[in-house]
Amino acid sequence: MTANTPLVFKAIRSSHPRSTAEREAILANPGFGKYFTDHMVSIDWTVEKGWYDPQVKAYGPLSLDPAASVLHYAQEIFEGLKAYRHADGSIWSFRAEQNAARMQRSAHRLALPELPTELFLESIKQLVTMDALWVPSAPETCLYLRPFSIANENFLGVRAAQKAAYYVIASPVGPYFAKGVAPVSIWLVEDYSRAAHGGTGAAKCGGNYAASLLPQQEAYANGCSQVLFLDAQEGKYLEELGGMNIFLVKKDGTLVTPELTGSILEGVTRASIIQLAKDRGHKVEERKISIDEWRQGMASGEFTEAFACGTAAVVAPIAALKGRGFIAGDESAPAGKLTMALRQELTDIQYGRLPDRHGWLKRL
Ligand code: PMP
Repeated sequence: MTANTPLVFKAIRSSHPRSTAEREAILANPGFGKYFTDHMVSIDWTVEKGWYDPQVKAYGPLSLDPAASVLHYAQEIFEGLKAYRHADGSIWSFRAEQNAARMQRSAHRLALPELPTELFLESIKQLVTMDALWVPSAPETCLYLRPFSIANENFLGVRAAQKAAYYVIASPVGPYFAKGVAPVSIWLVEDYSRAAHGGTGAAKCGGNYAASLLPQQEAYANGCSQVLFLDAQEGKYLEELGGMNIFLVKKDGTLVTPELTGSILEGVTRASIIQLAKDRGHKVEERKISIDEWRQGMASGEFTEAFACGTAAVVAPIAALKGRGFIAGDESAPAGKLTMALRQELTDIQYGRLPDRHGWLKRL
């Protein structure tokens, strides 16, 4: 197989798809990431062959040798994006080429093979086309797509695996937070950091999330739905939340968000919000923000809103910041006006209710 021979997907329909009644019951109340569609994509890779054997086939368990490298050294990466059903029934992806590019950067950092963008986009199209009936149409619902890649060479030596696989699974979803778009409180983690300088913070790899689960439990125990991580070096500057980027809004309408330092994830939603805010004439500052600046700014009224953003939750208003022995902000405060306006505009574009002026959507 040469690099420029296009790979053709083999489509093998599931012999045991869910019944229409089962599917409709799931789509009526999908939750988030609980149910999966009838099919999945798989593509194999070896050092010798490169990518080969792309398939769309029945969703089902993977067979892994107990010595597969992913199980020992966490050589794994993933992505998250959504397919949206528009009012006319058509189905669209949102900036999927950005996810393809980020997955390539993650692959590079984790010494996994990089999947070409065209193959990534085609894998999404193949799966969504096969499982089109699984894309819900109720407001605020969509099909969440989870591409991921694992090293599956059966070898215990610590080196980059010479065998890997790429998969895509899909899950119909409703709102990420059980309470819908209600403002959330976030928990300031002081004992743990997420990513060190030169580490894997900018990669979407499973290991980053494994390390965030213990602080996440601390957040839940303190009535918060997300954790806020500070930089690992000085423990002073805002980085991001467990699974979302963060923005603050100043009283003059300026948006402030942590700059991309290499230790935070370059969110597709983050980039889109920056664009939409600039389109509206807002100033956007990407820079270091110390936790003291935020806390003092909340107290003085300099910072009037804060929100988290990511593919799963889109935009989640932040009502309060809690930490050991303090609460800043007001847990019962309503969502900020600009926060909700940006959320509305972004979802209107995604669901085809507003023109796609930046060319972010692709029909699947
Ligand atoms: N940061 C982290 C740690 C995340 O897991 C995510 C979700 N992918 C984000 C930020 C937001 O990224 P995106 O907007 O591309 O979903």
